[in-house]
Amino acid sequence: MQNIQEFIDLGLSEKSIEAIKAKGFETPTEIQKRCIPVLLSGHGDLIGQAQTGTGKTAAFALPILEMIDAIPVSQRPEGPMALVLVPTRELCIQVCDEIQSLALGRKIRTSAIYGGASYNIQFRDLKAGVDVVVGTPGRIQDHIDRGTLVLNEIKVCVLDEADEMLDMGFIEDIENILSKMPE
Ligand code: AMP
Repeated sequence: MQNIQEFIDLGLSEKSIEAIKAKGFETPTEIQKRCIPVLLSGHGDLIGQAQTGTGKTAAFALPILEMIDAIPVSQRPEGPMALVLVPTRELCIQVCDEIQSLALGRKIRTSAIYGGASYNIQFRDLKAGVDVVVGTPGRIQDHIDRGTLVLNEIKVCVLDEADEMLDMGFIEDIENILSKMPE
């Protein structure tokens, strides 16, 4: 049985609750219970650690969606307000899909920007304007270098599977990407 009250108690809005209902989540997972209220308060950095498949994506995605949704569409910047860095293309697609499904009923544009995929679609998406970018470090760095991705408006940055990204040698790209966004 769905225990939606537990999600409401975390401070999530009606739109998030509708998306959660549509996805059939019954109760928040441990990482969601512990992260969502802290992230919604918008204070400082957070490190979350939990095994795969325990709902980490929704734990960071729902607060990001709430943050963007609080800004009227006409007042949103052209560039993305959230950047999620992920180690692999598979995870990039998976995380982007999960964020999109959680954004149900909201005017929030999400784009997956990963290596090995056509530049044209990515140029088009970035030019049209996107609120949340999910990307692999190499390709994100590439778009920054080309001037097709500007990170001046980033409010939230997520390093998803940070340990994996470090193991894969992405530290330099990540440090450079972080240096391109507001403090
Ligand atoms: P993740 O760990 O973020 O990759 O999520 C793994 C799977 O669990 C995804 O299919 C999510 O949609 C799903 N999921 C996330 N949160 C919940 C929840 N509270 N209840 C049930 N399923 C969930």
